[in-house]
Amino acid sequence: TLQRDNHGSSSHRNEDSTIHGVSETIVGVLGGGQLGRMLCQAASLMAIKVMTLDPLEHSPASSLSYQHFVGRFDDGDAVREFSKKCGVLTIEIEHVDAITLEKLEEQGVDCQPRPSTIRIIQDKYIQKVHFSQHGIPLPDFLKMDNPESAEEAANLFGFPMMVKSRRQAYDGRGNAIAHCKEELPSAIAALGGYERGLYVERWTSFTKELAVIVARGRDGSVLCYPVVETIHKNSICHIVEAPADVPEKIRKSSVDIALRAVSSLEGAGVFAVELFLTNDGQVLLNEVAPRPHNSGHHTIESCYTSQYEQHLRAVIGLPLGETSMKTPAAIMYNILGEEEGERGFYLAHQLMKKALSISGATVHWYDKPEMRKLRKMGHITLVGPSRSNVKKNLDLMLNRKSIKSN
Ligand code: ATP
Ligand code: MG
Ligand code: MG
Repeated sequence: TLQRDNHGSSSHRNEDSTIHGVSETIVGVLGGGQLGRMLCQAASLMAIKVMTLDPLEHSPASSLSYQHFVGRFDDGDAVREFSKKCGVLTIEIEHVDAITLEKLEEQGVDCQPRPSTIRIIQDKYIQKVHFSQHGIPLPDFLKMDNPESAEEAANLFGFPMMVKSRRQAYDGRGNAIAHCKEELPSAIAALGGYERGLYVERWTSFTKELAVIVARGRDGSVLCYPVVETIHKNSICHIVEAPADVPEKIRKSSVDIALRAVSSLEGAGVFAVELFLTNDGQVLLNEVAPRPHNSGHHTIESCYTSQYEQHLRAVIGLPLGETSMKTPAAIMYNILGEEEGERGFYLAHQLMKKALSISGATVHWYDKPEMRKLRKMGHITLVGPSRSNVKKNLDLMLNRKSIKSN
């Protein structure tokens, strides 16, 4: 029979003395994209079995997972069936059926982080309400479900104004900027109208965007990864610099906000906290992802324990690993689709070939079957003895591309 302890773990696992290997817990991952793929890569080192559920048969994780199931992670029946095969259930995307997960948890299914966390995070408006109730600094926001609330938001926040979809948001798809009152109706329409479920945020003028990954084990132990800077292109994470080049005071308040945000959420795993460093030197929370994150790709090469291995350790209940950097500096460069189709593949290939000739560069290709503009196709991590070294190597890597496109 299944028995849950304080942290929602099941005690059906063997005593240590009879475990063969590091862990016999089968980890079920909802989603099979690149994050799932990198979870599988980390798992293979310790022969941890990771199963994936994704609507695509040939998703990035499918060829590397122990068993891949084709099904929708936002479909209750599919999630229920999948959960029967796993010892612990986790996510690589938050747009899953959280209501079903809450029911499954009541029935003894072990889900980490807790479904309550996923439910709060997946609706960005509820997420903002949650964090503001916990006293975490964030940009002013307002629910917008009719023309009256749009009027109110315009009066309160002025322009430019950030209109956001409450649900299904990622890579900036779900954000629309209204530069003036006249642009508000088209911004609302671009996101699918009020029916989509919208809210607005006060425009934040920032000097930098920062991110902190926090890991929490099943025993409640908490560790932070170094603060990084994230640089976006069209609202999509493009470049990550680790560690961030910010004063100690900013580093401290970033870590403080990240720890407070994560302590208000339940369950084990890694959590990525996205932050704004405003023009007047404040640190504000943007959003939290309750899973491995683009801002932590660099940890594979630059930290003693990657965020992927850490997430597995955390959800299984193994000891957490050291989070500090083993190289002085790292840069992660996302390979975003530049053009549709063959030409796009050609450009990505050229860039990766160039990267392979640069010392300290590691190339990751997600093996997505289709190339689309601004789609995350892979990434390149550069590690080196100093920030200037990795920046120089990034320039070297990109130079060729800019020569090519001339
Ligand atoms: P992700 O892929 O990280 O999940 P998302 O689609 O959930 O992204 P957000 O993180 O809300 O979108 O926003 C994407 C980017 O848009 C931010 O990283 C930032 O560059 C910009 N942005 C978001 N909110 C604001 C704001 N209130 N003011 C100014 N810029 C903003
Ligand atoms: Mg998001
Ligand atoms: Mg974001």
